[in-house]
Amino acid sequence: AAPATATKLNTKRSEEIFKEAQELLPGGVNSPVRAFKSVGGQPIVFDHVKGAYCWDADNNKYIDYVGSWGPAIVGHANDEVNEALKAQIEKGTSFGAPCELENVLAKMVIERVPSVEMVRFVNSGTEACLSVVRLMRAYTGREKIIKFTGCYHGHADQFLVQAGSGVLTLGLSDSPGVPATTAAATLTAQYNDIESVKALFEANKGEIAGLILEPVVGNSGFIPPTKEFLQGLRDVCTKEGAVLCFDEVMTGFRIAKGCAQEYFGITPDVTTMGKVIGGGLPVGAYGGKKELMQMVAPAGPMYQAGTLSGNPLAMVAGIKTLEILARPGAYEHLDKVTKRLISGILDAAKETGHAMCGGSISGMFGFFFCEGPVSSFEDAKASDTAKFGKFHRGMLEQGVYLAPSQFEAGFTSLAHTEEDIDRTIEAARTVLKSL
Ligand code: PLP
Repeated sequence: AAPATATKLNTKRSEEIFKEAQELLPGGVNSPVRAFKSVGGQPIVFDHVKGAYCWDADNNKYIDYVGSWGPAIVGHANDEVNEALKAQIEKGTSFGAPCELENVLAKMVIERVPSVEMVRFVNSGTEACLSVVRLMRAYTGREKIIKFTGCYHGHADQFLVQAGSGVLTLGLSDSPGVPATTAAATLTAQYNDIESVKALFEANKGEIAGLILEPVVGNSGFIPPTKEFLQGLRDVCTKEGAVLCFDEVMTGFRIAKGCAQEYFGITPDVTTMGKVIGGGLPVGAYGGKKELMQMVAPAGPMYQAGTLSGNPLAMVAGIKTLEILARPGAYEHLDKVTKRLISGILDAAKETGHAMCGGSISGMFGFFFCEGPVSSFEDAKASDTAKFGKFHRGMLEQGVYLAPSQFEAGFTSLAHTEEDIDRTIEAARTVLKSL
């Protein structure tokens, strides 16, 4: 069981390494949220990971609910994925030429994801999303796009408009360096509010190329959509001749075998993927109807390319990960452990007198320090982020690694056991009592 009282962690090595990193890397990191700015204190510097656990540079062990921000769905350093990677390393790590592994992963994606008839592999979720916007524009001959406040689609210029994730965590509502003309072509609507979308289509008749959203928000914390909202988006895009994109970089293969679109029964025109599809290696992908995907070079005129795209190591990790996820009981396990986790934490909050709300779908979850329900970015912003910061620190000291921001979803994996979950709930109770 977790220790009954909070112990001060020994983080000497983490501190030394991070101090040096700050001289070498902007803010000491290669991606902003890792710096722990919104929860205070120093980041934990990782040394190694296995299954549901991570170990830091001082050899403290944590139950991990970040999972490398989503990819580690079959557990960190999974033996089967590692074996497949080792075998591929012997055959070469990069070809820059077609290889059969690309077909294998493409077939798995096409078979599982309702909207995808053809797919293009890239190297990150950002690349997938920026390419899909180019495709929407190429296909419709229109320039404006719609996104939702608090949704995050990577760091390309056109998405850094009222974005979620680190942009939100650090309070940078927009970023300098984004041309005003680019930002002006991105219109923002309110999540779960179909009227705000219809109003934008009305005010920009015939000018909107497409709409992109997280079908379940993870980048303002966990916010599920209503089915009516997703259906409303499908209907309005069809009516207005705009391309509907589900950004499934986070939800893809995580909340269901056929992604959020299968879970909710709403099929977009195009889909972006990342994280899980690379099984821990750098991969993104976008796909959709053949008619649209045939626009992409060299089949069509819309240019998009990549030296490392379709990289054999990345393909192998993706293939093995999707193979494991297709086994009976995989999503049932994710759903079961995650529900147990979130209901246990909410019960502990109730017992200890803290206002808290939360939810989960399969292996994705979130909670907020407020009464709730949270159905939009505005609701999420009203939660007690200072309390979250204290909770986060307390959980670290109890051996639980949560995303270092109130505005990020949490993730479980096939490696998380009910015992891990129960230890986590006990830790949460201990910390909540102390707040
Ligand atoms: N889209 C969504 C929904 C994401 O959650 C993320 C990253 O967290 C991205 C796009 C960007 O992906 P990447 O960080 O791989 O560039």
